This record gives sequence, C-alpha cells and structure tokens, in this order.
Amino acid sequence: MRRRPNFTLLLVGMLLIATIAIHFIGGKASAVGVPVLLFGGSVICFAAGSALRHKRGKKPAPATTEVSLPRIFQKQAAAEVEPVDPVAALGRAYRKEQWTITEATVDNMLDAGIELLWAHIKPHTAAIFFPTLDGGYRLRRFKSQSDCINRDAVLYPGVGVIGGFLKEGLRQLNLKEIISDSMTLYYYTKDAGIRSLMASPIVAGGIERGTIIVDSTVPKKFTDEDHAFLRAAAALLGNAVYGSYLYTEHKLQHGRLAAMSSIEKEFFRNLSRSSIVEKISAIVPLALPFDRLTISMKNEDAATSTLLAAVGADADAFINKRFSLKEKSLASVLYANNLVLSRNYSNERPEVRYFNSEPRNDELRSFAAVPLGVDECRGMLLVESSREDVYDESYREFLGRLSTSAGLAIEKMLIFEKANALATHDGLTGLYNHRTFQQLLADEITRTIRYDEPVSLVICDIDFFKKINDSYGHPFGDVVLKGVSSLLENSVRQDIDTVARYGGEEFALILVKTTDEGAAETADRIRNAVADLPFKSPAGDDVRLTMSFGIAEYRKHARQMGELIAKADKALYRAKKNGRNRVEVF
Ligand code: GH3
Ligand code: MG
Ligand code: MG
Repeated sequence: MRRRPNFTLLLVGMLLIATIAIHFIGGKASAVGVPVLLFGGSVICFAAGSALRHKRGKKPAPATTEVSLPRIFQKQAAAEVEPVDPVAALGRAYRKEQWTITEATVDNMLDAGIELLWAHIKPHTAAIFFPTLDGGYRLRRFKSQSDCINRDAVLYPGVGVIGGFLKEGLRQLNLKEIISDSMTLYYYTKDAGIRSLMASPIVAGGIERGTIIVDSTVPKKFTDEDHAFLRAAAALLGNAVYGSYLYTEHKLQHGRLAAMSSIEKEFFRNLSRSSIVEKISAIVPLALPFDRLTISMKNEDAATSTLLAAVGADADAFINKRFSLKEKSLASVLYANNLVLSRNYSNERPEVRYFNSEPRNDELRSFAAVPLGVDECRGMLLVESSREDVYDESYREFLGRLSTSAGLAIEKMLIFEKANALATHDGLTGLYNHRTFQQLLADEITRTIRYDEPVSLVICDIDFFKKINDSYGHPFGDVVLKGVSSLLENSVRQDIDTVARYGGEEFALILVKTTDEGAAETADRIRNAVADLPFKSPAGDDVRLTMSFGIAEYRKHARQMGELIAKADKALYRAKKNGRNRVEVF
C-alpha cells in the first residue's frame, strides 16, 4: 500500500477535534488555537488507535482515558465562557463580534484542512470556495506553490473549465488531463501550467456550503484514493464549519433570550414609574444606537403626558416637560395608535415630536417609537438618529419585546398604584383615610423626635352637618364634604402638611414644623374660608356652613401619639361647647 492506513484515522481525529475545539475556542479564536488542537487531536488519535490495538490484544485500555475526556472539555469550555452583561447580547456590536470570531475560527479550520491535503496529496494549489449570494463561489482560503492566485476569484456556473461542471450544482470532479490555459480556471491570474484537478463539494446539513479544489501541474496526478481522501476532508470540513455557524447562531439566540428574560425580571423587580423609566433608559443604549432618547408617560388626566427621561440632543429642553396629547404632534399620533413605528423624518416639513415650542432639530433623520402599555398606550419611548433608515428589521424584535415587557410592567404598576390608592385614600374625598393618617402621624412624630422640631395636630369638624343632610339630602352632604376637603387641601403646604378624613365630617391636619400658635393661625384662616364657601343646594338655595377646630402640639401638650389626638379632640369639643365656628388650642 502506497499510503499509510492510519492516515484516515488521523484525518478523522484532527477534524473531529477541530469541531469540538470551536465550542470552546469560540471566544478566543487564535491563529495558533486550531493547529495546537489539531496536534493534540492527532496525539489523541494515535493514543486512541493504540488503545484499540491494545483492546484487541491482551490488556484492556484504562477506562479513564476515554471516559474523562469529554468532562475535561466540558470543564475547559465552562471556564472559557466569558461572563457577558446579558443585555449587551442584544446589541448589534455583540452580534458582529461573535460572527467575526466565528469567521476567524472557520478560517483556521479551513487552513488546517488545507494543510492536511497539502501534506497528503501534495498539490500545486489547494483552494476552498464558499458560495456568494448571487450563485457563485468565492475563493475563501488557499495554499499554492504559485504566486499568481487571483484572491478575488469567483467561479460562476457555466463559466470556465470548472464552471462547466457547476451547472447542476457542485459535483465530484477528477480531471486528469487539462490542456487549456490555467486562467480558464479563474483562480489564476496567468497560466500556471495546471494539468490535473480534483474537486469535492463541501456538504453539511444537507446543503452545499462550498467546494474544495486541488490541482497539479502533473497530468493524471490524482488517484482514486486521493479523491476519496479529498471527499472525506470535504465532508469533515463541511460539518465542522456548519457546526461552528450553528453554534454561533444558537449562542446569539440564547443570548437574546437571556437578555430579554433578564430585562423582564428587572422590570418586575421594582414597580414604580421612575424605576421603570430608569430601566428602559439603561437597557436601550445597550441594544440600539440613537442620538436622542425620550420617554414619556401619560398623566392621570389622560389628556397630557410628561417626559420623564431625555438623553442626547437638546435633552434639557424636553426633560420633565408636560405636553398635550390633543395638539398635533408625532407623540399624539403615536399615543392614539399604540403601534411600534419606525421611519425617516419627512424632508418636506418639520415634524413636531412633542410640543410646538420644542427646539427644532433637522439633524435627526429617523426615529423608532415604541408604545408602552398593553391595550392602551400608557407611555412612549422615542429613539431618534441622525442617520436615515437606522431602525430596521434587526431592531424590531427587541423593540417589540421591550414594548411588551415594559408595557406589562407599567400595567402592573398602575394596578398596584390603584390598589394602593384605594387602601390609603378615602373614596369620597380622595384625602388620606384614617388608617393612613395614623401611620403618617406616627412617622411625623418619629421625625420630630429626631430633629426636635414642633408638629401640631388640628382636628376639625363641620358644625351641624346633620342638619345639612337632613335639609338638602345626603348627596348634597357629599358635595359639601368634597368641597370642604379640597379647600382644606389647598389651605396647607403641598407635599409638606397632611390632610386626612378622620371620620364622617371630621378632618385632621398634620402641620409639620408648626407650633400650636402657627397652627391656630392656619386653622383660623381655614375657618374664615369655610364660612365664605358658597354652596348651592339642589333646590338653588345658598348654603353656608362653619367648622370648629381643636389643636394640640406634640411635646408641648403630649408626648405620645394617642395623647396628642385625645388633646386635639378635647380642644375641638371645647370649640363646639363654646359656640362652634371657633378655634381652640388645648
Ligand atoms: P356638630 O356641630 O355637633 O358636629 O353637629 P353635627 O350634626 O355635625 O354632628 P353629628 O356627629 O351629629 O352628625 C354628623 C353627621 O354626618 C351624621 C352623618 O349622617 C353625617 N355623615 C357622616 N358621613 C357622611 C358622609 O359620607 N356623607 C354624608 N352626606 N353625610 C355623612
Ligand atoms: Mg359635626
Ligand atoms: Mg362629627
């Protein structure tokens, strides 16, 4: 036999190892990676070969060699997997990087395959072609004794010597006597005197993925055995390359899923308006390019929205701005339609994004808008770019999923807010309820103890309210209660003092950093305002009412919450006893 029989085993081993290798050198493809592994692979193959011989002989091979090998690979692979910020896996840059690494790995594998053919078949040129989008085959890797290889060569079916054989797809080829000029092969720039040539398609996953060609200046150079060797190499290379592309695709897909699930988890972790907006602002830059990002949320009035985030061009002019959803703007159209939309800005007319007085920016050329909400648009993310056609199909999936997951988080937050409001507020007047009042007063007292500042409690009660109900009806009584409530709320410092509905027609005010004297002044001002409140009964009568007030100051009158409430109540009782429409300090 002219060739050593072990060669096929060696070839199989090397390429198998190369296939496995890509699974863990993927992250760090290096020029030496594959050759080193191939060397390792061949050593292992020889070891395996001798192990087999041993098996057939007397002594069985130690089991550990075979059993522990995949585990070693698994361990090494696990160690090689770099921790990536899951959200970064959504980015185009990450995808590009992964494919670049894969292509480098593939090149290394192809080079190793060429080396193998080189050593075994000794051709003039060994070249690998990969398909192009227009049906041709482009030169991908080669090794040649000739310096006149056309590096940009593309073979087309029907064109040139090889093209004649490409008509019905790639085929096995063994041309023994070529007489034409080598330039008709299309991968030489001048005649190299090529006299024989073999080709084998690279098929993997049932699809033709390229072809390997080897040639020689010697006529009838390649034997059937050489052709069989070439075929085996092509099959193994095909599987290795296919495996490496498949691996990358799976890795990217896995990355996308992991990223989305991590985003969804993040969204549901902290359900407040600001945390959702913060999350979106943090996630989007990892996945999308933009020159401006803005996020708005619909207000309770449903007729306006507020910009809660603005990053990039003219951000300061947008942040915290409230805008009408009734005015003509991009936002009002998008809020109304609840659709993911991306396009270029009009060249003819300037498009108002949110409000008429916003700064005009003609440099922003395209946008993508994402509604946030499930059945209704509760908010909107707008990314804008100074380049045209930026937000294409490749970003759609991300935008769609972001819209859904952020939308769900917002819906959940709104339900949560509603439930919370019901639990903490009085249904009729919208003021804090009794339970919340107790909690807020306790908190205020704790703060007072720490900072040594005064806090006063005012308890007030509508005079002869029963009579109002009796004379004008209970519904009118409700109207009066609402009117008094809003007056109370507007009479104290917003976000500083607290107004609560203490009971039926009784209210409590917590006035922070206020002494009993200060509280008495406030109460008296309210008393006058209540007396001036003009109510109209359903029958059209003018109705006037008055209120009585009792005040106690923490520390001055009481050192415990219960005691403070009791003393304010006592003062109120005195106000009633002393003729009503009065303010009494304990
Ligand atoms: P006083 O000056 O001594 O406070 O006399 P008053 O009539 O205001 O006091 P009283 O406590 O006898 O009556 C309070 C009335 O408030 C009785 C109750 O029917 C009425 N009330 C309590 N809650 C509501 C409510 O939510 N809506 C209406 N319309 N009336 C209410
Ligand atoms: Mg009353
Ligand atoms: Mg009462």
